[in-house]
Amino acid sequence: MRALTWHGKHDVRMETVPDPKIVNPRDAIIRITSTAICGSDLHLYDSYIPSMHRGDILGHEFMGEVVETGSGSNLKKGERVVVPFVIACGQCFFCGKQQFSACDNSNPADKTDLSEIAYGYAMSGLFGYSHMTGGYAGGQAEYVRVPYSDVGPLVIPDGLEDDKVLFLSDILPTGWMAAENCEIEPGDTVAVWGCGPVGLFAVQSAFLLEPTG
Ligand SMILES: [Zn+2]
Ligand SMILES: [Zn+2]
Repeated sequence: MRALTWHGKHDVRMETVPDPKIVNPRDAIIRITSTAICGSDLHLYDSYIPSMHRGDILGHEFMGEVVETGSGSNLKKGERVVVPFVIACGQCFFCGKQQFSACDNSNPADKTDLSEIAYGYAMSGLFGYSHMTGGYAGGQAEYVRVPYSDVGPLVIPDGLEDDKVLFLSDILPTGWMAAENCEIEPGDTVAVWGCGPVGLFAVQSAFLLEPTG
């Protein structure tokens, strides 16, 4: 398949790489129909995030069609899914509290690894985001393997176009969380600094919380 790969600072390449395969029973293989570039990808492009390896496949905002499933996946071939950035087992202490980004099982890196130093706590696995988050291949590719596919992916009803739902993978929930953290109440006045995609989704989310105007 074709995939976007990282080769060093300011060096990413579209290359032919091996197709992903089912590794664990709960895996699914997704044929990507839409994918996005995130501001967080710039941290990889600029080599700000450590533990990238040459040839790593980028991309953590993607959606597509289920083409293959392991015996433990609850997805069905042909279903359309949006896949969240975070990889989570759904069964550990943190997943039980819906604190999926702290999943104890999805990141095989040593728990005293870089993610604890960089972010303050050992992280879950992430798609396409360095080896300190598990070294998982990302979705800026034709196909991707989705581990724990019974936990993260959101099945999308027919009739909703990719453009309407793709941003559920990361950037819309990020904007929503920004608005939610502000504890906006009806009648509040809200200002948003930095209106890139996250800022625009923070604005949209704030409207749902009914500030004045
Ligand atoms: Zn992102
Ligand atoms: Zn977990």
